[in-house]
This record gives sequence, C-alpha cells and structure tokens, in this order.
Amino acid sequence: MGIAKPIIGKVIFKGIVHAETALHIGGGREKIEIGGIDNAVLVDPITKEPYIPGSSLKGKMRSVLERRVAIEKHPDDPSKFFTRNVGTSTYKLWIHVCDTAEDAYNCPVCRVYGSSGGEGNQGSNFPSRIRVRDGVFPKYTVEWLRNADTDLLFTELKSENALDRVTAASNPRNVERVPAGADFTLEIVYDVEDLSQLEEDLKNILFSLSVIEDDYLGGMGSRGYGKVKFYFTEVIARRAEFYKEGTANSEKILFLDVPDVDRKTPEPPDYDELKTTADLIERINEVVEFFEGTNG
Ligand SMILES: [Zn+2]
Repeated sequence: MGIAKPIIGKVIFKGIVHAETALHIGGGREKIEIGGIDNAVLVDPITKEPYIPGSSLKGKMRSVLERRVAIEKHPDDPSKFFTRNVGTSTYKLWIHVCDTAEDAYNCPVCRVYGSSGGEGNQGSNFPSRIRVRDGVFPKYTVEWLRNADTDLLFTELKSENALDRVTAASNPRNVERVPAGADFTLEIVYDVEDLSQLEEDLKNILFSLSVIEDDYLGGMGSRGYGKVKFYFTEVIARRAEFYKEGTANSEKILFLDVPDVDRKTPEPPDYDELKTTADLIERINEVVEFFEGTNG
C-alpha cells in the first residue's frame, strides 16, 4: 500500500556554506593531462567552477542523523540499525534504509531523507521530504578566486603524503582543493507533510547541520579539510495556500532584516549580520507555530 503525502506547506532555508578550511569534494576525474592532479575537485562542466552537489551535503546530513538514531534505537548494539548491505557479499557496506513506506513514515531518518524498498517486491519507496540544492559560488567568490594567485583557475594544489600501509613507502600526491574563505550558496527545501512530525524533523535537520560544522564536508577530513560554517539569510515558511493564492498571511519569513546572498551577490556579506545554525535552533519554534496556526 502507498503512503498519502499531503502538502501542508514548505520550509525553505537559504544562506551560504562558508569554507573555514580548504574543501575537497572529489570529481572522479582521475588524472588531468598536465600537472598530475590525482585528486581533482568536482566542477561544473560549463562554468568550470567547483560546487557542492546537493546530494553530497544531503548524504552527509543523513549519515550524521543515522548515527544518532542508531544509538537511540539500539543503545546496546547500534550496528543493528544498519540493515542493508549496499556493498558486495565480500566487502560489505551497511547503511540504514527502511524497507517499507510505512516504516519509513515512522523513521526520523527515512521520512526526511527518503528510502527505497528492499530487494524483491516486498518493499515500497518513501520519497525524500527534503531537497538540497547544489551550492554554487556567489559572484564575489568567483571574482576573488579568478584573480587570486592560485595554481589553477578557482582552486589550489596541495601536496599530501599518503603512507602506503603495506610497503610503508611514502606516496606524495597532489590534491586539488577550494581555498579556505570560499562561499557557496545554500538552499534546503523541506516539505511539510505531517504537523505532528514537523518540529522533530526541523530540529533533526538543524542537528545534522550543527554536527557537520564540528565535523567536515567532502574528502580528506582527517587532514583538516572541509571545515564549514553555515550562515543563514532567510527561513521561509509557506502554507500550501501560498502557492495557490500567494496571500500574505500564508507565508512567514524569518530574518527579513538580513541581506540575501545568492549567485549574483557582488560583495561578501558582513558575516556577523548573518544568522547561525544556533540562531535557527532558537527560533525554529516560530516556524512550527506558524503551521500550527497559533502564530500566523
Ligand atoms: Zn528508516
């Protein structure tokens, strides 16, 4: 049986991802012709600018929440939460996915990040409640990096020594990375489908973002890469009626007094003016109350 997915509204988080240390999100381009870059970053094929794939941030958010829920559900053996092998029979890679839409609806991980039914015809899918857009450079980061004295167009090269665990031989390689200080646009859209789960879902999204700030995004995290900070310019809460009628009381915008940062922004923002994940956690109840109609 399917699960009804009513549209009560949407919550849209807008802001930026600020790279506090250099960021490496791999592109899988193995070696480019000259320069011997073993580890290239993912770039947009048209603009040649590095970007953060929405799927990459979403995957990290999901895994952070999975690890917390695993301990909550199975305090004695959190590995029980990771029920599906997406590796091979020899090299197992266990992840958490609910097998049916009914289970997913009641699972704080799968109902937000989605699930696909298990093998065979037993399972059923639960579409994700969030979409994470790709993070792209605002204009001021493009201009800064285009003119910066780095090795490549928008990136720099760092030689990292990887020790071969078998031979103990050192194996230097060039890692391409986006320099510290770069910004990327951030947009996360959450579908409100069940008011009784709204507060928990929003708090879990912000939980994941806070943990990532103390962890890392992308590769080479153990070498200090990928420390990011999220800054927010707007949180927009829209009831379903907004999309039909566009009426003023069907939309609520938090942090209206903060300047937007988007693809076209020519100058870096005053970061102190922007809102942090902690600021959002403090005010997220205003969004919940808006949908519950007590603060519309
Ligand atoms: Zn689940």
